Amino acid sequence: MTSFPVRSAVVACLLMNLTVGAFAQVDRDAEAYVQAIARINEEHARNPEKVTEEAMAQQLPPMAKSALQRVLQAKASPQLAPALSRCAQAALDLSLAEDFKATRARLEAVAPDEAKKLGNAVFRPRFIVRGVGEFASDFLEHFADLFDAILTSYDEVFGFEEFSKVPGKKLRVRLHLEPAIKSPPHFAPEFPWHSEIDFPLVNPTAFESPTRQGQFLFYGLCHELGHLIVMWGDLNHMEDQHAWAHYTGVVITEHMAAKFKDQPLLASIHDDQWRSLTEERKLPQNQVPPSLKDVKSVMALFIALHDAVGPRAIGEAFNWLEHEGKARRINRVRYYSFSDLKRALNAVVKDEAKRQAAAKLL
Ligand SMILES: [Zn+2]
Repeated sequence: MTSFPVRSAVVACLLMNLTVGAFAQVDRDAEAYVQAIARINEEHARNPEKVTEEAMAQQLPPMAKSALQRVLQAKASPQLAPALSRCAQAALDLSLAEDFKATRARLEAVAPDEAKKLGNAVFRPRFIVRGVGEFASDFLEHFADLFDAILTSYDEVFGFEEFSKVPGKKLRVRLHLEPAIKSPPHFAPEFPWHSEIDFPLVNPTAFESPTRQGQFLFYGLCHELGHLIVMWGDLNHMEDQHAWAHYTGVVITEHMAAKFKDQPLLASIHDDQWRSLTEERKLPQNQVPPSLKDVKSVMALFIALHDAVGPRAIGEAFNWLEHEGKARRINRVRYYSFSDLKRALNAVVKDEAKRQAAAKLL
């Protein structure tokens, strides 16, 4: 009579050991996949060559791929959902779209709430848009079309060669649905291997801007790209007084309003009525001598430079600095000063009168 409980305890104990073994295996497999991706990203960030993430992904060793397959095929257990989540996040870090989709699908089957927390993602050649929240089915694709059009507009107006702080890495935009927008969209510099924009939204079905609360989300997206391209001064002193991203933001907002006039892409976007270079030129606050004194005078400086040499030359100047390779780096983010811009414009502007006009302003 007494032997039965003892035997069942032994059996339970053996089962537990077996299960713990299985749990440990799924953890180990997830870890192998995550670490393989981390190694590729870390090595690339240390010696950034201009290669695409698709090319970087070719370095993923077969053992990491088979480890992921074992995670995908593992039996349901309390450890499976966290393991799948980690693998999906790692797949995002190397733009492994198929791995992300497979991992997310399995997560949705075993832990739908965890899949919701992970969100969904759209992969494009220059960026990944990740959306966390119950967005309408085509929302992320529409947002990606819009973001693509903004990047193309930056190409047309300024011609910056590199947006990401780590060359070759796609940009990331992380959309998250919130009951109310308490903090505006911002450039999140803390991620080690890529540049990311954090973007809160309240409407899951349509990208409207300005919002009913008067937030200029579209202009905000154009503005954040200005921060991604270059930061000014250092952590303690923002030399541009926050005027640079405002300048690039209004220039791109105006460019796109003209380019996509009456087209469906910008049908629910009207920021240019309030945020444009034309509007900035009219503002009494910007009628001050160009200088580095405060945000108004730096804005006046950028408008004067825009008129003196044109935005294309400003873009070329930053490309020239990028090739020179002497940027101060904080969190791998590029930091430049106005003296750098002066040197660069002097090098890239060929027209003598324009070069002198820029030098005088700076
Ligand atoms: Zn800003």
